[in-house]
Amino acid sequence: MKNVIILGSGMAGLSAAIYAGREGLDPVVVSGFEPGGQITLTTEVENYPGFPEGILGPELAANMRKQAERFGATFMDGAITALSKEGDHYSVMVGVEHIQTKAVIIATGASARMLGLPAEQKYIGRGVHTCATCDGFFYKGKEIAVIGGGDSACEEATFLSKFASKVTIIHRRDALRASKIMQEKVKANPKIGFLWNTGIEDIKGDGKKASHLVIKDLVSGKVSELKIDGMFLAIGHVPNTGFLKGIVDLDEKGYIKTDRHLHTNLPGVFAAGDVQDFRYRQAATAAGTGVMAALEVRRYLEEQG
Ligand code: NAP
Repeated sequence: MKNVIILGSGMAGLSAAIYAGREGLDPVVVSGFEPGGQITLTTEVENYPGFPEGILGPELAANMRKQAERFGATFMDGAITALSKEGDHYSVMVGVEHIQTKAVIIATGASARMLGLPAEQKYIGRGVHTCATCDGFFYKGKEIAVIGGGDSACEEATFLSKFASKVTIIHRRDALRASKIMQEKVKANPKIGFLWNTGIEDIKGDGKKASHLVIKDLVSGKVSELKIDGMFLAIGHVPNTGFLKGIVDLDEKGYIKTDRHLHTNLPGVFAAGDVQDFRYRQAATAAGTGVMAALEVRRYLEEQG
């Protein structure tokens, strides 16, 4: 019987592991499909406190994991497939293994949202991408489209402009929702252009690789084709809560509902990071909620005697 299992190893999960470790709870962290979380898909992180010159995302995650291990956290590979209540404790299924635990911190984060076009799945990894840091390198000297109008779209476009000959941000409205500084950065970049009020109707290719986007001018209704070497989706994220449906209370978008102390509807089950936060979604806020959840677990276990 474990004291606490932490589901997910992003900023929230790792911060929870550091604190739970220091509380002597011997936490077990289930790494999940994306060890280190979304931060590992970024390059420079400039806004995490304590790093005046910035730090690379993967380096930050690796440092935090080492820090958690130093305080006794252990890590399991794989993803959790089920969570169930058994009397006064919980059973967590990781692959084929069942683990019993007194408390759970859910920090499974969120994943890239897709447009929902059938061709998207056909060409994923072959012209359709969700992570510039991972796949941008393959587009040296090529023409790329970035879909979206938020900070992620701007960040991806800026990063891709280092490799690509041209980057076009395609946005469904006529204004970006990104922060001012990010907007200024992309607008000042001579390699980055914009297609405003434009939707993506389809993705075309030769069956092996995407080569064209079917785009629609959402004001005039005109449909046309745009030649691309690759496209990167940056249209937000969906929470990784599929395995919790019917067990933990979720909101209409699938995010975990918690009270202000991160308690879910189940006693001893807490949620931290992007899986319960659609508003801030920052590395620092995710880390903060991980800390809160670990302290709540300590309190809960004390109350349980
Ligand atoms: P976001 O702010 O939710 O922006 C998503 C963008 O995609 C919006 O422009 C949205 O259009 C568009 N979109 C959504 N669904 C779409 C669809 N089906 N078809 C076409 N377009 C669609 O998401 P994000 O950019 O990933 O940012 C998420 C959070 O992380 C934000 O809080 C952001 O500040 C933060 N973040 C921060 C940094 C940084 O500080 N360096 C970097 C990345 C992200 P509308 O504008 O019309 O809604």
